[in-house]
Amino acid sequence: MSYAQRVLEQLKVRYAHEPEYIQAATEILTTLKPVIDRNEEKYEKAGLLERFVEPERIISFRVPWVDDSGKVQVNRAFRVQYNSAIGPYKGGIRLHPSVNQSILKFLGFEQVLKNSLTGLPIGGGKGGCDFDPKGKSDNEVMRFCQSFMTELYRYIGADTDVPAGDIGTGAREIGYMYGQYKRLTGLYEGVLTGKGLTYGGSLGRKEATGFGLCYLTRAMMERNGKTVSGKTVLVSGSGNVAIYAAQKITEMGAKVVAMSDSNGYIYDPNGVNLDVVKQIKEVERGRIKEYVSRVSGATYTEGCSGIWTIPCQIALPCATQNEINEASAKALIAGGVEAVGEGANMPSTIEATEAFQKAGVLFAPGKAANAGGVACSALEMTQNSMRLSWTAAEVDEKLQGIMVNIFNKVDEAAAEYATPGDYVAGANIAGFLKVAEAMLAQGAV
Ligand code: NDP
Repeated sequence: MSYAQRVLEQLKVRYAHEPEYIQAATEILTTLKPVIDRNEEKYEKAGLLERFVEPERIISFRVPWVDDSGKVQVNRAFRVQYNSAIGPYKGGIRLHPSVNQSILKFLGFEQVLKNSLTGLPIGGGKGGCDFDPKGKSDNEVMRFCQSFMTELYRYIGADTDVPAGDIGTGAREIGYMYGQYKRLTGLYEGVLTGKGLTYGGSLGRKEATGFGLCYLTRAMMERNGKTVSGKTVLVSGSGNVAIYAAQKITEMGAKVVAMSDSNGYIYDPNGVNLDVVKQIKEVERGRIKEYVSRVSGATYTEGCSGIWTIPCQIALPCATQNEINEASAKALIAGGVEAVGEGANMPSTIEATEAFQKAGVLFAPGKAANAGGVACSALEMTQNSMRLSWTAAEVDEKLQGIMVNIFNKVDEAAAEYATPGDYVAGANIAGFLKVAEAMLAQGAV
């Protein structure tokens, strides 16, 4: 059995209770096999893979906060500091009832490779809590965020660990967390990204993940002789990533006909009106089904997975992990999908990914396709360190360059080590090589 397989088998036994982490590790270690085989002796002597798969540390803590009725609520939070070989830990904070250690380990593991792919000096981490901001008052969210930061502040810093937003953590939550960090430490530093523009945020950060997804998807399609313009697009989710992916792909000349949230999806054959979606989701914090009462000709269907049965040429899953299973992948293939760009992290199951690849669908994995968010966060860190702000056009130009560069690296790594066009392997390999070299150079740490 090869070194990569042995490490994977050990993980499956040790972490059998962490399915999302095992899913990510299986995909990563399986696709890295050609590189690891070539360097097996060197890597094994250095215990490289055993270190690579295991987070440097995981901090776990309780978050007590007082709800509006005066009752004390207690949530469970984590920060997974995965790998700092190439820079300070960097990765978002997820606030969602489903959050657990397995999910944050899978996200942190993916983040290590993603951050490496950006070419910027950022290591990988991820954090989160099983708190649900939905249905909470502003004051409850503030008290939660303050309590969360009252513990977390000891472990983070502008040069050690720089969290950002993720599911459930938007500008409001980042603002409350930043205020509490500043109050506790007395430091005005770039410890979080995704900040508001009045206190150190970067223009273009809000849009960066969705826009970056479209830049990379376009590069992938053009390299393969296809165009974005004129295509029909499905976008799942209606949060930060989904909204700006839908906006950019529309600007590129495609038509988005469906979007969703965790309750169901809307179908608008005339093209989704994003002003209405932004009003419902960003301003009113409402549900996507409200769209149909405001836009004629649109329909709403309860349940999420049906969205993938709508015929389209481009699918941009931007909601959450494992939202496309094998059946949904087959429905997309039957509906004529040409390209899938993952805006969310690991939205396709392993079986779904295999189905796309087997059918010849162009497939951009999340760690490459959604890297625009963290890349722009790193640009926010740079601006904070320099004490200046770039214009939106400057940030967008850098983002476009980074996404095209990521695609080129992934494309080249796929051709050199795996199969041309296998961007899953290409992304894992290109991301891994830089981290591995830095880890080896730094010795057994
Ligand atoms: P948001 O919280 O802004 O939006 C999430 C969207 O997905 C909402 O529409 C939400 O619906 C839906 N959703 C969440 N959980 C589920 C679920 N279990 N089933 C169905 N739908 C669900 O998050 P983001 O847009 O920031 O994040 C979306 C994805 O993109 C995540 O996978 C995240 O890790 C990834 N990502 C985000 C980055 C960023 O910069 N924000 C960067 C890179 C990746 P509802 O409102 O009903 O909960």
